[in-house]
Amino acid sequence: MGKDILSAYQIADFILRDMWRLQPKDVSRRLLERGVAKKDISLAFKFALPIAFLDEQIFGSGNGAKMTFALRPVNFFTGYAHLSDGQEESYYVFVNGLYRQLRQERKYRRIFLLDKEGNRVCNEYKQEPRPSLASILLTTAVHEVRHRLQNKEKIDMFSPADAYRLDNPYIKSFIRYRMILFMEKAVVWRKQKKQADYIESETSPKEFDAGLIEHIASSELYRGGMTIERLIRITRLQPHN
Ligand SMILES: [Zn+2]
Repeated sequence: MGKDILSAYQIADFILRDMWRLQPKDVSRRLLERGVAKKDISLAFKFALPIAFLDEQIFGSGNGAKMTFALRPVNFFTGYAHLSDGQEESYYVFVNGLYRQLRQERKYRRIFLLDKEGNRVCNEYKQEPRPSLASILLTTAVHEVRHRLQNKEKIDMFSPADAYRLDNPYIKSFIRYRMILFMEKAVVWRKQKKQADYIESETSPKEFDAGLIEHIASSELYRGGMTIERLIRITRLQPHN
């Protein structure tokens, strides 16, 4: 998520910025004082850790972005935002209600499984495997760190047009899948009367790109043999390399 959504975060009831530098015990205590449930807090740490880990792998230690544990204004698990000058950046974990929301969303999440040639492994959506909790946590980290790469390194992003431009059938299949998902989501959001700025941020080029990378990571994780090096390569993937 980019600066367009930052204003939504700023009006939210943030607990503390930069909690990451505090001891987890202190973070927990302060969240408990704010009435956040224990299971939400422990899940929030599970989301935060892989983000911090992958971030350090990619940007190096000492270059980490802040980690903010926030009360949720919106239906996201996590986020990344920065001010328009590219500074003041932070990852976010939206803590309260996290456990319940994850449980709800897991009913719908599937892994779009492709073989190396870009052929779909399952014919039907229903046959597609469900991601494990570990997979959700790790691919969420890939998604958020990808946003930081978009901001800090201005990497080339994937776009729907790459479904026609690229030679790689594997990546092209993922892009087409992502396009279908986007269209389906847009219909649902309109029915749910989601606010325009929500739809705009979720269908932005940055979200398309980060979501695509997340799908690729999810599929590759499921196939097994994932290493840190491969995960970094996927997080850094660009249309022309
Ligand atoms: Zn995002």
